Amino acid sequence: MVEKIGVIGAGQMGNGIAHICALSGYQVQMMDVNEAALERGMGSLRRNLERQQAKGKISQADLESTLARITPTSTMKSFDDCDLVIEAATEDEGVKRKILAELCPVLKPSCIVASNTSSISITRLGASTDRPEKFMGMHFMNPVPVMKLVELIRGIATGEETFSLIRQLVLKMGKIPVSAEDFPAFIVNRILLPMINEAVYTLYEGVGSVDAIDTAMRLGANHPMGPLELADFIGLDVCLAVMHVLHEGLADTKYRPCPLLVKYVEAGWLGRKTGKGFYDYSGETPVPTR
Ligand code: NAD
Repeated sequence: MVEKIGVIGAGQMGNGIAHICALSGYQVQMMDVNEAALERGMGSLRRNLERQQAKGKISQADLESTLARITPTSTMKSFDDCDLVIEAATEDEGVKRKILAELCPVLKPSCIVASNTSSISITRLGASTDRPEKFMGMHFMNPVPVMKLVELIRGIATGEETFSLIRQLVLKMGKIPVSAEDFPAFIVNRILLPMINEAVYTLYEGVGSVDAIDTAMRLGANHPMGPLELADFIGLDVCLAVMHVLHEGLADTKYRPCPLLVKYVEAGWLGRKTGKGFYDYSGETPVPTR
C-alpha cells in the first residue's frame, strides 16, 4: 500500500507530480538539489492550487490540506519511509543514474521507484538499481495537474505486482493510465514528435508559413494547438532531443531531425521559455518568426 511518496526534482514536472499526489491524499516529500529551484517549485505549486481553487475545482480546505501534506527537502534521507519515489529530475542519463545510486541505499526494501523520463530506457535505468523488478516508467504529461494521461512503461524486469500497484495509484489520482512497452519515446512522443518535425520540414521547404501551418492543423485536423505553437510550448531543445533518441534508437532515416529545428536550437531560440521560437513572445500576442 502506498501512503508516502517522494518526488525528486521540483521543476515543471516535479512540482506538478507533487501537487497531484498531495491533492489525492498522499504525504509527499519533494526534493531538489537546488534550493532556489525548490522554492520556485513550491511557489508555482501554490499558485497552481490557487488557480484551481479560484476556478472552483477544489475548495479552500483542499488547498490548505494539500499544502500541509507536502514537505520540501534538500536531502534524500527523508525518503527512508517512502512507499514510492518518483524521479523527475533533469533529462540526463548520468544525472538520473547518480540519483538512483544515491537513492536506493536509503529506501526500505519494499519501496517502488518510478522515473518520469520522456526518453531514457526504463530497462537500462532499472538495471542500474538494486530493484529492477520494483522499477518502472511513470510518464506524466505537462502541465501535470491538467493533463489526464499517464504512460506506464514496463522495463524488461518490471514485476507485475509493481505495474498493477502503480496503475491503481494513477487511477486513484484521477488520471488515465496507458501501458507502453520500453521502446524509444514510448507512445505519445513517438507519434507526436515526428509530426512536429514534419511541420518544421513543411516550413523549411516553404510549403507554408508558420501561421498557415498552424492554422491548417488547428482547423483542418481539429488540433487544439498548431504543431509549431506546440513545439514552442514543449521547448525546441526538448523536441530535438526526442528526435535524436528516435533517430538513434530506431536507426531509421524517417526520424532525422529537420535542419531548421537544429538551427533554431543552435540560435538559442527554444520557444516560450526563451521568449522566441517559431513565434516571438516579446509583445502582447505571439508573432510568427517566419
Ligand atoms: P526541469 O528542468 O524543469 O526540472 C528538473 C529539476 O531537477 C530542476 O529543478 C533541477 O534542479 C533538479 N535536479 C537536477 N539534478 C538533481 C538531483 N541530483 N537531485 C534532485 N534534483 C535534481 O525539468 P522538467 O521539465 O521538470 O523535466 C523533468 C523530467 O520530466 C525529465 O526527465 C523530463 O524528460 C520529464 N518530462 C518532461 C516533460 C515536459 O514537458 N517538460 C513532460 C514529461 C516528462
